[in-house]
This record gives sequence, structure tokens and C-alpha cells, in this order.
Amino acid sequence: MEDKSLAIYQSVQQQLDGICDSLGLDEGVKAYIRQPQREITVSIPVKMDDGTVKVFTGFRVQHNNARGPYKGGIRFYPTETINTVRSLATWMSLKCAVMDLPLGGGKGGIICDPKNMSMGELERLSRGYIRKIWKYIGPDQDIPAPDVYTNGQIMTWMMDEFNTIKGGDNPSVITGKPIGLGGSLGRGDATSRGGMYVVVEAAKKLGIELKGAKVVVQGFGNAGSYIAELMHDDQGSSIIAVSDSKGGIYDPAGLDPKAVAEFKKMTGSVVGYPGAKPITNEELLELECDILFPAALEGVITADNVVNVKTKLIGELANGPLSFEANESLYKRGIMVLPDVLCNAGGVTVSYFEYVQGLYHHWWSLEEVHEKLHAAMVKAFNGVYETSVAKKVSMRQAAYMVAVKRIADNMKLLGWV
Ligand code: GLU
Repeated sequence: MEDKSLAIYQSVQQQLDGICDSLGLDEGVKAYIRQPQREITVSIPVKMDDGTVKVFTGFRVQHNNARGPYKGGIRFYPTETINTVRSLATWMSLKCAVMDLPLGGGKGGIICDPKNMSMGELERLSRGYIRKIWKYIGPDQDIPAPDVYTNGQIMTWMMDEFNTIKGGDNPSVITGKPIGLGGSLGRGDATSRGGMYVVVEAAKKLGIELKGAKVVVQGFGNAGSYIAELMHDDQGSSIIAVSDSKGGIYDPAGLDPKAVAEFKKMTGSVVGYPGAKPITNEELLELECDILFPAALEGVITADNVVNVKTKLIGELANGPLSFEANESLYKRGIMVLPDVLCNAGGVTVSYFEYVQGLYHHWWSLEEVHEKLHAAMVKAFNGVYETSVAKKVSMRQAAYMVAVKRIADNMKLLGWV
């Protein structure tokens, strides 16, 4: 497969350069914010079940900590690259700053194929990764979390390995843990719930009636399945198509997201769901609908296919699903894109809540988490929307302007630049 990751990362850096220029920031700020502060690459030997030893490559990129400890997930992905992790770490700095969380940005990744590894192999890999990076993480340094193909079990092994090496009980070294092991209520669907909260605000501005609105979801993993369910159950929207890596399904009369999730649990894919028409991932992105949620991976809507996108609103639940060109072309067509650094920020926001609860060993109710998440998402949406209107720029440009200004202000105060 072609490696698009360097081009994506270079585009991220160029976008940051442009934002720094439009904010009138000086060259020092521009030069520092476009680079990660630290990059760690490690080799992790793992004893496989068949008795052989396999050496895996892992990364942790720490982009910027001017606003607080680095924060961001760890991906287990077969074609992971350092450039993808650099882009994702940069987006985490921006995301935490858009949400005004006292955190910086980081990201981790291991090149591996978790779908074809046993639980024992995954545990040894997770623990091996922490043995290599433990010095550089911790509640006051860098706090990892789940991301693509990682979960609460993997976070638990990582937390346990860290605490075994360091000594003590530090639940807040990592977030996205299971409830009972220091996890927060409401973390499971937080990314999607936060996305729904900002979509509700955007729909008010755009005059979109959410009840009966046609919704398309690309990617039916954690974020995708929850957003389908939330939009269906809480907003009364009609989920007309969903997909996963194997393909998609389409039903103009609307799908039942819970039944689709059950089907996927049993068969491993949404493909073949009874009564729905099969559709490719490419076709699904071009369906006529009111709201489109790309909820899988980066780089799915680009200059090549953006002209065929027929929706009124896009909510980026994945990180980086739209290229910069695609984003700007939609803005010119009057189609609002809720950028990833805002739309999927519910995940890291509840991670922050989990971190705080862990530090205090004091746990909040689900209602409290939802209330605080709602307030944070609405506040962030309004800040970005107002900037977008005032500066006549897309929601992505506006979000980046808000974030870069906050990070740059701190870097100045700290005397770094
Ligand atoms: N992996 C999620 C993201 O990309 C959450 C990160 C976190 O909770 O730290 O935002």
C-alpha cells in the first residue's frame, strides 16, 4: 500500500505555518510548534506463542507540553509510520488546546496486526512497550490512552507494568481504563457523545432538523457504532448507511444501529446485514445525506473525491479523515465541516476527567460526566464558530487559530520562544 503518511504530515506542518502567519506570530513560535519536542522509537522483542521471538517497532511522539503533560492515544496498526504518529501527536496538542484542557499533545503507535495476535502475545507486547518508554510517561509527564485497535484491557496491562516498574499506585498514568480499575463512567461513548453535542449546536446554526435527518457513518468501530446509536436514539435521526473495513450497507428506510452492532459482533462485519443493500466505502462517502460522519481512519476524503460528497454537514470522528484541500473546497461550497480537533475531542475530554478523578481517587456519577462534557463541548464549539464567522475562515482554520494562539501564548509566557 502507498504510504501517504509523509504527505499528510507535511500538509499538517504547512497548515500550522499558515495559521502562525495569519496570527502574526514570530518565526521562533512557528519553528517550534511545527516540530514535536521529543520522538521515541523503540524495538520490542516479544516471545510469540509458537516459541519464536518477534521484534516489533513502537513509537511515542511528544509534540508540545506548553499547556500541560502530553496526552494522546496509542494505536496498534499494521502499517503504522512515524509520520502518522507525528501528525496525530500534533493534532492532540491542538485538540487539547481547542478544548482548553490543561494538557499538551502526544501519540503512540506500534507496528503490529492485533487482529492476528493472541491475548498472551498482546499482553507481552503491551508490557514490553511500557518497559521501553516508562521513563518518559507518567501522570505529570505524558498520559497515554486507547486509540485505533487498542482498548481498556491493553491500557490495564500498560498501567500495571508502569506501576510495577515505578512502584506505587498511579491510575492516572493512563486513561481509558475499565471501570473498577480507575476508569471513568462515560468514557466508552465519550468521543461520539461529544461529537453529537457539537453536531446539535451546528445543526441549530445551519437549520438542519435532526429528527429524521439522514445520517451516514463511515467506520463502524467504537466511535462509529456509538454515534449511529446516539443519533438514532437521542436525536431521532435515520441512519441510512454504515461501513467497516470490509464494506458497507445501505438502507434508505434507515438501519437499526443496535441490531447492526449485534450482527457485527457475531459475524465480524456489517457486510451481509439482512435487508440492506451492499455498498462500497467509496460509494458510501458520496451518498446524498444530511450528516456524514467519517469515523475510521485518516485521508478518506481528498481532492480526488470531494466533488462527489453530497451532504450538508460533516462531523470528523476519525482523526484527519479530510485532506486540507477537501476541507477548503467544502467550505467554499458552504458545507460545514466540524474538524476532528473539535468533533472527536469528547474522548480526550472525558480522559481528562478520568485523569482528575484518578488523582483524587474520587469518582463522579455518569450524569456529572455528561453534564461537564456537554458544557465543555458547547463552549468549545461556540469559541470556534465565533472565530470562523469573525475571521471568515472554515471551522478547521478557526479551531487551529484558537488552539495555536493558546499554545503560543503559553510558550511566550514560559520564555521558550
Ligand atoms: N485517542 C483519542 C483521540 O485521538 C483519545 C486520546 C486520549 O483520550 O488521550 O483523541
